Amino acid sequence: MIKFEALGLQKSLLDAVADLGFETPSEVQEKAIPILLESETDLVALAQTGTGKTAAFGFPLIQKIDSNSRTTQGLILSPTRELCLQITKEMQAYAKYERNINVVAIYGGASITDQARQIKKGAQIIVATPGRMKDMISRRLVDISKLDYCVLDEADEMLNMGFMEDIKDILSNTPNEKSTWLFSATMPKEVSVIAKKFMHSPQEITVGAKNSGASTVQHEYYVVGGRDRYPALKRLADTNPDIFSVIFCRTKRDTQKVAENLIEDGYNAGALHGDLSQNQRDLVMNSFRKRQIQMLVATDVAARGIDVDDITHVINYQLPDEIETYTHRSGRTGRAGKSGISMVLVTRSEQRKIRAIENKINQKFELKKVPSGMEICEIQLHHLANKIKDTKTNSDVESYLPAINEILEGIDREELINKLISAEFTRFSTYYNKSKDLNSSDGGRDRDGDRDRSDGRRGGETPTSGAVRYFVNVGEKDGYDWMSLKDFIRDTVGLGQEDVFKVDVKESFSFFNTEAESTQQILDKFTEFKVDGRFVNVEVSKSPGGGGGGNRRSGGSGGGFKGKRSGGSSGGGFKGKRDGARESKGKGRDRSESSSPNSGKRRSTKRKGDFF
Ligand code: ADP
Ligand code: MG
Repeated sequence: MIKFEALGLQKSLLDAVADLGFETPSEVQEKAIPILLESETDLVALAQTGTGKTAAFGFPLIQKIDSNSRTTQGLILSPTRELCLQITKEMQAYAKYERNINVVAIYGGASITDQARQIKKGAQIIVATPGRMKDMISRRLVDISKLDYCVLDEADEMLNMGFMEDIKDILSNTPNEKSTWLFSATMPKEVSVIAKKFMHSPQEITVGAKNSGASTVQHEYYVVGGRDRYPALKRLADTNPDIFSVIFCRTKRDTQKVAENLIEDGYNAGALHGDLSQNQRDLVMNSFRKRQIQMLVATDVAARGIDVDDITHVINYQLPDEIETYTHRSGRTGRAGKSGISMVLVTRSEQRKIRAIENKINQKFELKKVPSGMEICEIQLHHLANKIKDTKTNSDVESYLPAINEILEGIDREELINKLISAEFTRFSTYYNKSKDLNSSDGGRDRDGDRDRSDGRRGGETPTSGAVRYFVNVGEKDGYDWMSLKDFIRDTVGLGQEDVFKVDVKESFSFFNTEAESTQQILDKFTEFKVDGRFVNVEVSKSPGGGGGGNRRSGGSGGGFKGKRSGGSSGGGFKGKRDGARESKGKGRDRSESSSPNSGKRRSTKRKGDFF
C-alpha cells in the first residue's frame, strides 16, 4: 500500500500528516499529489465529496509556494463560507510545521476591513468565496496579479450557485502563466466550459466512476402518500434512534416548517436555510457538529459544503429537480470511508424519478417499507434494553437506593424487567397503537385535495357531542355512490336509517357525518376492517365541511408524541405558521434536556417525553 512518504512530500508536511492521523493517502491524493508536485500543470480532478480533495491540492500548494516571499501566490476559491473556513483550517493544520506561511480566509458576512488587514500582513495563500473575492479585488484590497496557483474547489457547486461570472472576473485578474487546479465531484457542462476557457491542456484524473455516487452510500426509497411525508419522516427517525442526519427539502419554507414540526414533536432538529442570519446559521451548524442537533433540515444551497463527517443518513424529504443535486445530497453521508444511507420519500407518481437517478448514478435503489408502529416499538424496546445494559451506574443514586429497594421488594428480576419495559412500552405503544400503514398502495392518496389526516391515529380523543365528520378511504372508484356508501356504513356498524348523513363521495375517498354518540362505535368497527382483502379505514376528519370533530386532541399518551400534524384546515399541507427565522438550536436542546432524564448520553435518542 502506498504511503504518504512515497508521494514526494517534504518532512514538515509528513509530520503534519502524522499529526492529522492520516495513515494512507486516499485515491485522489495518491493520484494528484505527485502530479502537482512534479510539474507545473493545469489539472482537472473529479472525485466525490469526502474523498480527501482538500489535502490533494492543499499539500502540494503549501510545498510549492515560496514562504520567503509574502506575495499572494495561491488562491483557493470555494463555494461557501463554511467550506472556506474549513479549508483554511485544514491548510493551517497542514502548514503547522512551516514557519512563515500565512493562510487567510476571505468570505462575505464578516468585516472586510479585518480581512484586508490580515491580507496586508502578507498572505501567501488566500481561501475565498467568489463574491467577496471579487469585491476585494475591485476595491484593490488584494493583489493577485502575481498568482502562481489557482484552485477551483467544488467547481460544480460554485457554478451551481451562479458564481460563473465572478469566477471569470477573478481569473481575468490573474496572470496567464499560472497553474489552475480544478476539483469537482461532477463534471457538468458548465465545468467543462470553465476548463476549456481558462485552462491549458489540463491533465485529468478521475476517481471512481464519473458522476457516480460514493459507493459507500446505500440508496433506499419509500413510497408514501404526498401528505404522509412528515409522519413517514418521523417513523424513519424513530427506527434509527441514533440517527445523525441531514434532511433535504426543496424550499426554505418547507425546510423551516419541517424543522419546526420536528422540534415541536420533541426531536433534536434544526433548520439551515438562506433566510437565517449568518449568526443563526453558525449556531445551528455548531450544534449540529456537537451532535446536539440530530436532524438538520436544510435547503440544497444552505447545505452546500456541509463538512461534517459521520452523518448516518441523508433523507430526501422531497426529491430535487436536478439529478446532479441528488448526488450532492447523498454525498453528505458515507464520507471518509464510512458507510451511509440515503433515503428518499417519494409518491407513487414520482417513482419514475428513482429510475432516472439510478441510471445516472449507476447504483440501484432498494425499495423499503416505512416501518409499522409495532416494528418501531420493538426497535425502541431493544434500544432501551441496550441502553440500560450500557448505562454506567451513578454513585449519586446510592443514598436513594435503600428506599427504592423497599418499594420494589418482593419483585423478582424477571418481573422487574417486565414492569420496567412495560412502563416505557405503554407510553409509546399508545402513540403507535392503530397507526396505519404509511406505504402507498392505492393511487388515491397522492391526488387527494381536501383530505385531512392525522399521523395514523384515529383521533386520540373521541368527540362526545354534536355532529362528527369522518374520512373513509373508499370512493367512486370502489363502486360507491352516496347512497350505497351510506347503506354500507349503516349496515356494517348497525346504525339506523337517519344516523349517517352528509355523505360526500369523491373519486378515491369519501366523507360522512354521524352524531358524536356513534363515533366510538364507528371507530371500533372500522379497526382492522377489511372488505375484499382491503382495509377500509375511517378517521375522524377535521375538515371545515363537516362540523364537529374539531375538538380532537392529540395523544393522551403521557406526554408522548404531540401529533402536531393532526390535520390542516389549510388543505395544502403545512399549517399556516409564521415562516420567520428562529433559532432552532436553543429550542431543540432545551427540549431534549428538560425532557429526558436519559439525555446525558449524547448519541442516544433524545426525544421529548419520548419512550426513553
Ligand atoms: P472532499 O473535499 O473530497 O469532500 P475532504 O478533503 O473534506 O473531502 O476530506 C473529507 C474527510 O476525510 C476530512 O475529515 C479529512 O480530514 C479526511 N481525510 C482526508 N484525507 C484523509 C486520509 N488520507 N486519511 C484519513 N482521513 C482523511
Ligand atoms: Mg472539499
